[in-house]
Amino acid sequence: MSEPLVLPMLIDGERVEARSGERFEVLNPSTGAVYAVVPQAGPEDVDLAVAAARRAFPGWSRLSATERGRKLAALARALEARKDDFVVAESSQNGKTRFDADFDVTSTIACLDYYAGMANAVMGETISGPEGYLVYTRREPVGVCGLIVPWNFPIAIAVWKLAPALAAGNTVVLKPAEETPVTALMLADLLEEAGFPPGVVNIVSGDGETAGHRLVVHPDVDKVSLTGETVTGKIVMREAAETLKRVTLELGGKSPNLVFSDADLEQAVDGSLFLIFANAGQVCDARSRIYVQEPVYETFVDRFVEKARRLVVGPPDSEAHYGAITSARQLEKIEHYVELGQKEGATLLTGGRRLDGPGWFYEPTVFADVSNEMRIVREEIFGPVAAIGRFTDYEDGIAKANDTPYGLAATVWTQHLETAHRAAHDIRAGGVWVNTSEFLFNESPFGGMKASGFGRELSVHAFDAYTEVKTVGVSLGGHMPTFGV
Ligand code: NAD
Repeated sequence: MSEPLVLPMLIDGERVEARSGERFEVLNPSTGAVYAVVPQAGPEDVDLAVAAARRAFPGWSRLSATERGRKLAALARALEARKDDFVVAESSQNGKTRFDADFDVTSTIACLDYYAGMANAVMGETISGPEGYLVYTRREPVGVCGLIVPWNFPIAIAVWKLAPALAAGNTVVLKPAEETPVTALMLADLLEEAGFPPGVVNIVSGDGETAGHRLVVHPDVDKVSLTGETVTGKIVMREAAETLKRVTLELGGKSPNLVFSDADLEQAVDGSLFLIFANAGQVCDARSRIYVQEPVYETFVDRFVEKARRLVVGPPDSEAHYGAITSARQLEKIEHYVELGQKEGATLLTGGRRLDGPGWFYEPTVFADVSNEMRIVREEIFGPVAAIGRFTDYEDGIAKANDTPYGLAATVWTQHLETAHRAAHDIRAGGVWVNTSEFLFNESPFGGMKASGFGRELSVHAFDAYTEVKTVGVSLGGHMPTFGV
């Protein structure tokens, strides 16, 4: 067995250990072995990182936008050159297949390129009127941003935040999830190679309750962007209120997948299968609630189960369709919900067991005959568990889709143009996709409504969220209010 990787943090351009000297282990979910050892940041390390980001802010924010874009493009090229290392590291720390990790790193490179191009392309507005005044707006960076990342798409989500924040002129402290800090820490070398000045990006590895919390309450952090569970979002929003931070919250989901009776059923089965089992279901907008219109319900369920049984689960370097569950804790959570589903009266048609170790793997699991009262339908499981129920007509389908605290995403399968667009308008979710298992492009906004949070990742909307709008007004001899004394 190879020796664990040992990685430092990045603070003010220096590779550093935690001030306390403490470290923690990162496990490989496919083997259960220690994959890496990294520093355990405490509040004092976060304070140093924030201070470095604050010192770097004037220089970075005043650098020309073209130059900021160039550095992001250089970071994209550096990542491209090290792509294979990142793919291996991402699948080793998270458990996802090499194929999935390759997809993530490829789209991460594209995300850096996308915001590299946006850095100098975003403009303010000139306001027409009032007479005798020149009034215009500027988009200015927010300041120092704390970026807090989950474990399911570690490098992709880190860069979804990092790239627009840097393009807009902010400096940042990035905190990866404690389960998966490796690829974020690996960015340190690439940032140096790409010529980022010290302090512009700082990377701290540590727990949410200590390092994450310190970022959220730190008086010198202007904005926090969190992707994580809804319960974490509530804590962050409450704690950020004290210092009136800007917050972007990308939270949990329980996204619906509506199959109308006029859908291309083969396409709907294949797409629905991908939408719940890709990445072992550890996807915030996994379409975990599948509602099928009654006339095609039995046929859909039969084909879905038959194909679910054909899925291969295994370690990253195998031909698996999906890989490991990222942590033992998450595996136990899935087991708990599957037990609960059976107690609640859902019909378990396939799966329902963890696979023999080493590592944490779980079978593709399908429940049918579910109702919206069941907790397996209401709560986020975050695993390879599909819950299939029926609907009668359009209104019933939309009502069931919307009967959830969450509002992240939805998919609709129909060949009827009117049904597709009506459903896309009527479903309360940040994104609705029609007749496809695709759900994400760097160019299109991504985020939630309701308990799935607010603010958007990706697209020009994420860039905007890392800026403040400033109005500048200059008299051209127009009317000036006075007391007339
Ligand atoms: P989590 O909430 O446990 O942790 C997310 C991050 O927040 C981690 O870095 C963690 O250390 C940090 N954190 C935890 N408590 C904190 C606190 N009190 N203060 C500051 N930071 C704190 O979530 P997770 O288990 O890592 O990720 C899975 C969750 O993320 C799921 O609910 C999933 O739906 C959600 N998610 C949402 C999106 C989206 O775009 N909406 C994308 C991916 C994942």
